Amino acid sequence: MSTTKKLGLREKYRLMTRGLGWETTYQPMDKVFPYQSFEGIKIHDWDKWEDPFRLTMDAYWKYQAEKDRKLYAILDAFNQHNGHLNISDARYVNSIKLFLQGITLSEYNAHRGFVHLGRQFRGVGPRVASQMQALDEIRHAQTQIHALSHYNKYFSGFHGFQGMYDRLWYLSVPKSYFEDALTAGPFEFLTAISFSFEYVLTNLIFMPFMSGAAYNGDMATVTFGFSAQSDEARHMTMGLEVIKFMAEQDPDNIPIIQRWMDKWFWRGYRMLVLVAMMMDYMLPKKVMSWSEAWEMYFEQAGGALFEDLARYGFRMPKYADVSVKEKDRYSHEAWAALYHYGAAAGLHTWIPTSEEMEWMAEKYPNSFEQFYKPRLDYWDEQQKAGKRMYCASLPQLCQVCQIPAWFTEPDDPTQLCHRETEYKGETYHFCSDGCCDIFKGEPEKYIQARLPTHQIYQGNCGGASIEEVLKWSGIEVGHDNLDYLGSDDQKNWERWKHQTAVEKKIA
Ligand code: FE
Ligand code: ZN
Repeated sequence: MSTTKKLGLREKYRLMTRGLGWETTYQPMDKVFPYQSFEGIKIHDWDKWEDPFRLTMDAYWKYQAEKDRKLYAILDAFNQHNGHLNISDARYVNSIKLFLQGITLSEYNAHRGFVHLGRQFRGVGPRVASQMQALDEIRHAQTQIHALSHYNKYFSGFHGFQGMYDRLWYLSVPKSYFEDALTAGPFEFLTAISFSFEYVLTNLIFMPFMSGAAYNGDMATVTFGFSAQSDEARHMTMGLEVIKFMAEQDPDNIPIIQRWMDKWFWRGYRMLVLVAMMMDYMLPKKVMSWSEAWEMYFEQAGGALFEDLARYGFRMPKYADVSVKEKDRYSHEAWAALYHYGAAAGLHTWIPTSEEMEWMAEKYPNSFEQFYKPRLDYWDEQQKAGKRMYCASLPQLCQVCQIPAWFTEPDDPTQLCHRETEYKGETYHFCSDGCCDIFKGEPEKYIQARLPTHQIYQGNCGGASIEEVLKWSGIEVGHDNLDYLGSDDQKNWERWKHQTAVEKKIA
């Protein structure tokens, strides 16, 4: 007869999570966990941290291995059957170029952040949860690279995503967001990534990319998306738990957390401008408009969340009202700028088709035909006359979000919005009051920001000509950049579709 008894789930959970912690004796605990206190957050009892998932490491490995087996089976089938030929249109591929260039290495940065937390939290519950999330995030980066490597065989813009992420101007938007979070303390990191990003704003990433992929016939992206989304439930729970835990530990924590909510709402919202542009312009088959998505996922769902959090003394993030004022212009301003700088991008840009413009007029009855359609029509005429417009000068970047200052005044969509402030004798520039406030809260951090355009002017980016800078950024000039019309992607796509049509006829 065996003397070992099988452990019950509860006991196993206790032994394999909380039971793994101990009080140090050779060194004081405060020295072993130095990051816990420097943000000013006060924690009195770590045992109050709730782990709703009660997942132990051994069960975690089992689930994840099973998911990976299924995912890679589907990816293999996709590759063997030339799945890329089933997408709606080759323009679609540019939205997943943006995903690989901007999001995949942000997943890796999230991994780095959670590894740090897995070491630095004094409480065992959040340490174990952070360790699992660290593994989730590196798995996301890996599965995305694997899934999209198939597209790399057939389309431009996929081959140099690491270098692009580090060097290209529009990718410094997500990069600087994650690096800002990584270099904050552990509680701010969780508020930034788990709460603001994964809890409040996650639908605005997931829905457009994953539903967008499904609508446009991209089964590879749909599959890695769903494989990642089952982790997301755990991540979102951690995001809400950290807010409640900090709030319940000490009333002194409330104003600190509110300041982080304000900051990370605005930073997250600004980063989502890339998604707004993708939803309205880059998906040949549209899911919904940015304005509809913002209404549904932020104004309604986010509004209800902050009503609920009011019992702790929290309020809506500052400048939420500005985001609502901007919803009818957000994607249009962004696409206009990317189109402008389409010579310096690792993807293609284009003028929307007339059917697409009709869709925009219907979705944006108060702005599209008044402000944006005439400009697109003008650029279209110019292009047809052989004068495709590419801006050759460098834009003024915002010191905080690193987006070119292309946004307009909250109350006047015809006036560019600029803010500036002086610090230690230097002038710093911003796209909005939101970004200007963030700078004033931590000027010593943001004066160190590495702004791509400034780096180019300082001579740190491969040379003085645009061609040299693009090469240095990993762009194959004439292949990855410029208009979709006349691109290798367009020519190949038409050839393949023609071939498939002929093969079908013969068969
Ligand atoms: Fe992730
Ligand atoms: Zn900004």
